Amino acid sequence: MNITLGTCLARPGEITYGEYELIKHPISGQDRLPIIIAQGTRDGPTFWVTAGIHGLEHAGLQVIHRLVTPELVRDLRGTLVAIPALSPTGLQMAQRGPYYHDGDPNRLFPDGKPQKSLDPDKTPPSVLEEAYAQLFEHLKATANLYFDLHCAATNSITFVFRDRVLYRKDENEAHNRAEAEAIDARLAAMCAAYGHSVVNEFPVEKYLDEKLHRSTTSAAINVAHVPALTAELGTGHMPDPGIVRACAAGLRNVMRWAGMLPGEMEPITDIKVVNPGFPCRRRSVGRVPQACIVHHRAQPGDLIKVGDPLCEMRDIWGRQVGEGVLRSEYDGWIISRTHGIVRYPHEATFSMAIRDESATVGPYPDDYFKV
Ligand SMILES: [Zn+2]
Repeated sequence: MNITLGTCLARPGEITYGEYELIKHPISGQDRLPIIIAQGTRDGPTFWVTAGIHGLEHAGLQVIHRLVTPELVRDLRGTLVAIPALSPTGLQMAQRGPYYHDGDPNRLFPDGKPQKSLDPDKTPPSVLEEAYAQLFEHLKATANLYFDLHCAATNSITFVFRDRVLYRKDENEAHNRAEAEAIDARLAAMCAAYGHSVVNEFPVEKYLDEKLHRSTTSAAINVAHVPALTAELGTGHMPDPGIVRACAAGLRNVMRWAGMLPGEMEPITDIKVVNPGFPCRRRSVGRVPQACIVHHRAQPGDLIKVGDPLCEMRDIWGRQVGEGVLRSEYDGWIISRTHGIVRYPHEATFSMAIRDESATVGPYPDDYFKV
């Protein structure tokens, strides 16, 4: 398949390297995305893998370095398109986003709504939003599968976020719903092939409220109809080598599932995989009722039942505060401890995967597509 991204041209049987101009700086210079394309000599799907849209999350960059090898290309059917840094300036600054965009860079991808005329009294879309919209057109034109690599929190366990799949309630509602359900089934199969723990994103209303439908993977799923998952790879600033290995192995297993690589699935050995036996979604939990110093008792990867102790609450001298122990309101498992131990009232102490009772496929709200 002919694929060109910036100066990088796919060549059968080779790994090729190049750059894609993301934005031009006003004074001089550009932000250029590093592009790697690995193409097999036999036809097959095109798999996009990107990392580093959040500049503090470094594990995915290492995964791409370890994934793209001559051995991979020798066995490959189809094409792997890899972008190790979706925000080069964010990465260089070690900040969530680059200085030239105010807000989360992973909430800028197309939402599928009709183009509105610009309100002259409002700030127009940022240069980064426009640039990502252009890049998205390349993904839409070429990708059959997509993974975006992130990191959740210090010492969090590795997992994937599974996006909600949305469908439009118009005259083709039955068709739209069937298409959404087919993509959702592909997401379930991709999660199983990848082999890490799975956390569903927020239910639809909250998902839209948090603008998660404008993330890389949600835009791929809901606008481009490309199955996509967001991998969260533990600590961002100091990647865990075991998680990096397990992610590369999981991605090769996804390629085996997709018919891009031969052979048996590799065992995923370096990580803890949590499966409580029911689907889970994310929630910030363990909100302390009063100001305190927290001693976390639960650890990332722990299975938790309602009433289990999450943390101790003490004053600055070390004496018990209130009831002393904060207990879980939910069944599920611990994704991570919230950064820091000094807490004001109502602040959360853990990120948890709690039982998910909402559907993974749902309709867009009635007014979503109104201009
Ligand atoms: Zn991230």
